[in-house]
Amino acid sequence: MTNARDAVDTGRCVDLATAMIQCDTRNPPGNESPIIPLMTDVMKGLGADVEVFEPAAGRPSLLATVGPCDRSRPILMINGHLDVVPVTESEWSVPPFAGVVRDGKLMGRGACDMKGGIAAAIEGLRACLDAGVRLDTDLVFHLVADEETGGRWGTAALLNAGRITADAAVVPEPSELGVCIAERGVLLARIEIFGRAGHGSDPAAAHSAVADAARVTQALHLAHFDPEPHLLLGLPSCNVGVIRGGTAPNVVASHCVLEVDRRVLPGQTCEDAVDSLRAILDPLGVSYSLEVLGFAEASELAAENPFVGYLQEVCGGVGTPTPVRGLCLGTDARFLRNQLDIPTVVYGPGSMTVAHAADEYVAVAELTKAAESFAGLYTSFARFFAESVAGIT
Ligand SMILES: [Zn+2]
Repeated sequence: MTNARDAVDTGRCVDLATAMIQCDTRNPPGNESPIIPLMTDVMKGLGADVEVFEPAAGRPSLLATVGPCDRSRPILMINGHLDVVPVTESEWSVPPFAGVVRDGKLMGRGACDMKGGIAAAIEGLRACLDAGVRLDTDLVFHLVADEETGGRWGTAALLNAGRITADAAVVPEPSELGVCIAERGVLLARIEIFGRAGHGSDPAAAHSAVADAARVTQALHLAHFDPEPHLLLGLPSCNVGVIRGGTAPNVVASHCVLEVDRRVLPGQTCEDAVDSLRAILDPLGVSYSLEVLGFAEASELAAENPFVGYLQEVCGGVGTPTPVRGLCLGTDARFLRNQLDIPTVVYGPGSMTVAHAADEYVAVAELTKAAESFAGLYTSFARFFAESVAGIT
């Protein structure tokens, strides 16, 4: 019997990733419908049972299962999002929705984030089937909507509907082929700063909200929010991404709005993050209001969980385990880790450094390597699970 890893077909994997890139699933505005027929055909062709889960019009996720999923065998889930972020086409050197291969790189919006990763996960299954491997793991593919704007219509909707069951999960977001077990969370907040308007010729007689906003901005950027860096995630951060205030140069500004991105470490709540902002703002003596625009918690899988070491060896080889890493940003892994206690690892081809950027790409060699790792995972997971069932959760 052929080894499933050896049956990985790079051209086939690139073709699937290309076809996926050619489906426009930009979010916002948010519409995953164009890619559903393609993914349905692909998964049905691999013998999967397929269901479209559509909690809102135009926001479908595709649920594909290979195996009976009757709890007689372990369930391994692949969770990948089908939506991509928008593009500024003039900044691209290739058409962003064509899927151009240049210098060993597949280029296009979603190439690494994360249509390439999904294609690699699917190619791993195809390779198993081509090699004649009889899978003794149930595979569940949740190809979801809406990750890029928070997951409300995708993984969160599936979670709320009670549709997620798995013994372990892999999210093939770009991890540079590292095994990522922790990620930072984020608080997005709007801070409105109030002053007192006056004539621009005499600012001392009024109170400038813009001047206060400048002090606040500097304080937030320089702040140390936690005394100790997280082993994998470093220190949290705060970025003032938007500043808007005043009416005219000859008027002392009576108000100024800041929009803030505050990254948080595992264990920190939305209230913790808000309190940490107030702790910077209050001593400055500025008059302000603070509104939470959104919050996503951080998440972490314990490095000692046997699924981590197992995946390190599956992806890197015995004796040359793939390194464990952290991600500075968030993925749908947090829902699986925090709400469902499913041991979840982010592992995929490509790099977050080119995700969301112009000329996004994934190296073809990384697609191949990832597909080989997935083939190895599917063929060995049941054995691993049987050996370590007591320690995985
Ligand atoms: Zn992503």
